Amino acid sequence: MSAATPPFLRAWTAFRRPAYAARPPPRRQFLPREFLEQLLSGVQARLPLLEAPLLDWALAERVHDPAYLRRWQRGEVTRGEERALGFRWDPSVVERGLASSGATFAAAQDALSTGLGLNLGGGTHHAYADHAEGFSFLNDVVISAQWLLDGGHARRVLVLDLDVHQGNGTAAMLANEARAFTVSVHGANNYPFRKERSGLDVALPDGTGDAAYLAVLEGEVLPAAAAFRPDFAFYLAGADVLEGDQLGRLALTPTGVRERDDRVFRWAAETATPLVTVMAGGYNRDPQKLIEARLTTVEALLGSVAGRR
Ligand SMILES: [Zn+2]
Repeated sequence: MSAATPPFLRAWTAFRRPAYAARPPPRRQFLPREFLEQLLSGVQARLPLLEAPLLDWALAERVHDPAYLRRWQRGEVTRGEERALGFRWDPSVVERGLASSGATFAAAQDALSTGLGLNLGGGTHHAYADHAEGFSFLNDVVISAQWLLDGGHARRVLVLDLDVHQGNGTAAMLANEARAFTVSVHGANNYPFRKERSGLDVALPDGTGDAAYLAVLEGEVLPAAAAFRPDFAFYLAGADVLEGDQLGRLALTPTGVRERDDRVFRWAAETATPLVTVMAGGYNRDPQKLIEARLTTVEALLGSVAGRR
């Protein structure tokens, strides 16, 4: 760790837990092991990296149907449910969900005390209260957001979801929570094909590039976020907006993604909004490009630290 590293920004990761090593998810949905280690050491060269704690089940039960959680814990899962998730059930699915949600929860504690929290994974925004979808078993952001609101740690929580897929589970789970505002900017033709209604949805056409994307962010998304006057925010910094993503359909360049992150972090710094960043999706054909995108997000976050009061 260099002396220039701000002491109050640190990252949490679930990726070194046994569940990831023992039975990694299919390659299309996840960075292969050797690349994952490269990402983690890249982050570690920039800031402290901590092992994620497992989430307390009781926190998940506040927002998820307890019967759903119990069935998944026991492996009483149908083939249809496995298809909706995107891979077969085994005990590591549960452990990865708890570790990833535990990392987001730990990052939320950091943001409460220092203004910034970071989970190198998380953002499983397709999980609903009572069913799994799209690689998402537990909705980490909703779990932490509800805990913040119910505990009086935050009064108005923003979920800024810039993953290229709509945050359908998040939108549905927070639909009746007036103290939360969900924003999703996504590809119109991307999964999920039946979309939910977020507080603000922006559906972009295939092939959308930097200029159009950043215009929407600057002209529509950040003003709406500011108008909500959140006192806490979650940012899903999906790297699947990048050109060459297998599940994306948009065409942002690495420079455009850096600019996106800079603008979000600058907004949070200027408004002194505590912010948790989670990485969400990224499925680039070239794993090296995905690693670079992740490290760029970390760099942008580090760059915003000086701007925070
Ligand atoms: Zn995605």
